[in-house]
Amino acid sequence: MPKYIDIHAHTNFKAFEEDRDEVVSRALENDTWVINIGTQYDTSKKAVEMTNEYGEGVYACIGLHPIHTGASYHDQEELGSPDSALATDGKRNEQGFVSRGEIFDKDKYRELAKRGKVVGVGECGLDYYHMDEDSIEKQKVAFIAQIELANELGLPLMLHVRNHSTNKTHNAYFDIYELIKKHSEVRLPNNMEVGLPYYKGVSHFFAGSVEDMKRFVEIGILVSFAGPITYKPKPEICDYEAVIRETPLDMILADTDSPYVAPVPHRGQRNEPSYVKDIVAKIAQIKGLDEEIVAKQIVLNAKRLFKF
Ligand SMILES: [Zn+2]
Repeated sequence: MPKYIDIHAHTNFKAFEEDRDEVVSRALENDTWVINIGTQYDTSKKAVEMTNEYGEGVYACIGLHPIHTGASYHDQEELGSPDSALATDGKRNEQGFVSRGEIFDKDKYRELAKRGKVVGVGECGLDYYHMDEDSIEKQKVAFIAQIELANELGLPLMLHVRNHSTNKTHNAYFDIYELIKKHSEVRLPNNMEVGLPYYKGVSHFFAGSVEDMKRFVEIGILVSFAGPITYKPKPEICDYEAVIRETPLDMILADTDSPYVAPVPHRGQRNEPSYVKDIVAKIAQIKGLDEEIVAKQIVLNAKRLFKF
């Protein structure tokens, strides 16, 4: 096994078009494995293709991000210039470019799962950042379909969870917990003995409360921390230190979400999987544990969940 695993990166995105191979090779040279995450069909397909370009160490998750279930702002880092995507993927309106929503097609994704080293379904989940009821309904439909696909394929869920910045009437973490309890049947085969916990997925870029974390852990969802834990603490937004202190070490993972949210000392630059070591170091520091021990346990946790 490697020293580090970045369980959630997007080196499949357009932001890495120019130097994708250099970035991935640099991670592998730094003893860091990478799971590339799809956000809609095309980025999922790219992530799967990349698993066949490298030997051990490059894996994929395939799925439909909640914001891509409806019209959304076009992100150039993800999909390239709006003009290149315009013909196939959307239309302009007065607020700028919007991508057309995708309807999750289980058959297409099931087929895609056979074409490479696919270790999970997602990123999927709920994004309440814009809080529009109509879109929340669409997000739930797509999420449940992806839980069902994960059940069928025996794969863990790669979860995206985001709350509104001020409106606290809806909690995406709680709604996801309820939907997973109701629909998920994943029992990973190597954890089936009576009395042992089973693992259903991971919540990447965790930014919930201690209570949200405890609910996830209770149903076998691991919790992954990203670059913002290295930034100046803003406990009124998320008390990362309290959450990390309380999360059991055998339920923790780390992710970069590259190209976004680079950890200190790379903050403000394009993020890449090699920087996951800075996130692991911060987790160790907050927990007051030896960095080597924490790095080793995180790799074991990833191995257990994704069955490498
Ligand atoms: Zn992501």
